[in-house]
Amino acid sequence: MHDVVVVGAGPAGSRYARRAAQRGLDVLVFEQGTVGEPLACSGHVSTDIWEYTEDARDELFQNEITGARFHTGGPGSADHPFYRDEVISNVIDRVGLDRHLADLAREAGADVREEHTVVGVSEERDGASVEVRGPDGVETHRAKLVAGCDGPKSRVRRELGMPEPGELLHGVLGFTDEVDDGDFVDVHLTVPRFFAWRIPRGEAGVEYGLAVPPGDDARGRFEAFCEGYGVEPDHRCSGLIPVGPPRRVSGRRSFLIGDAAAQTKPFTGGGILYGMTAADHAAREIDPDDPGTLGDYERAWRADLRSEIRLGHAVRAGYSMPEPVQKLGMRALEGKIGVHMDRPTTLFSREQLRALLSRS
Ligand SMILES: Cc1cc2nc3c(=O)[nH]c(=O)nc-3n(C[C@H](O)[C@H](O)[C@H](O)COP(=O)(O)OP(=O)(O)OC[C@H]3O[C@@H](n4cnc5c(N)ncnc54)[C@H](O)[C@@H]3O)c2cc1C
Repeated sequence: MHDVVVVGAGPAGSRYARRAAQRGLDVLVFEQGTVGEPLACSGHVSTDIWEYTEDARDELFQNEITGARFHTGGPGSADHPFYRDEVISNVIDRVGLDRHLADLAREAGADVREEHTVVGVSEERDGASVEVRGPDGVETHRAKLVAGCDGPKSRVRRELGMPEPGELLHGVLGFTDEVDDGDFVDVHLTVPRFFAWRIPRGEAGVEYGLAVPPGDDARGRFEAFCEGYGVEPDHRCSGLIPVGPPRRVSGRRSFLIGDAAAQTKPFTGGGILYGMTAADHAAREIDPDDPGTLGDYERAWRADLRSEIRLGHAVRAGYSMPEPVQKLGMRALEGKIGVHMDRPTTLFSREQLRALLSRS
């Protein structure tokens, strides 16, 4: 019997697998396709990302970002700049990131198997059973615990009857081959309850994208947005963004990490770093021989991210305010900021206060 079977080799699954294997656990990972594919992510992350990689910056780095221009209108409309003197975030090769993290998990001793789709999960008194369809047919594997790191539509979550995330937004993005190494992203508050974006990716082109609540016409809005910019992006892709973690992300012999647990920033949809942060809590807290430690994981990741997620919801509520109110608010706040991209609580930090005072 394995210590842990991990379902999904995205950032959350690979990070957890690496950390758990480093602790000496026997970890088996199943990935339904090829690691990193298909792409459905901007790969726009704070510079904290490099704390989770090993010598991979040269290979993964595409562009650096120092600020965002917020628009209440579409392309060409007036903007409200928010920026720092130093780099806030990086745009990276997301497919390459997933491959790198899976390699690190393998190097640490985890057995990562691609082209293996988990089709069934059940919990028993002394462990969990995982049914997997691979190149040689369907196999069953047993483990003391199963980790659902299988993304927004998590099969593990569904099979084990765990509660669903608050919301699943629908994101669409596409790329042009314009070379742009500008250091500002553009954010347009022109779609319901979220935003549309333009991200310069250096030599890798420019990305255009947006996300909308379920039931809205994501593709129609995307076409109109790109038309406004006068571009026709190709390599289009789409994906779901879970927002609002369920009240419980663990079971008797199971736990969820990453998008499966909706560990994302409600005001950007970003989940790469929150998922890996939670993965580290899981590896630190959970002992497969003591399922009682699953509760320690629940407490640890919520203590770390709860306030950030709560404040992230409040920031996102601003996207739905009437345009005159948005304009007033942004005029009052625009300029130099001292906020950390993943930590909205830094809105109340000394650094942010210093940035505000330095404007006068
Ligand atoms: C349009 C869009 C743009 C985004 N932009 C950003 C961004 O700029 N920055 C950021 O931080 N986040 C961004 N995100 C969110 C980010 O992509 C996710 O938060 C992140 O991928 C979550 O990682 P994860 O490991 O939890 O899940 P995933 O990356 O979804 O990985 C889950 C893995 O599980 C596998 N899997 C699923 N089911 C099974 C199964 N039954 N058996 C075996 N394997 C299975 C999948 O193939 C996948 O590889 C974006 C999302 C979207 C949709």
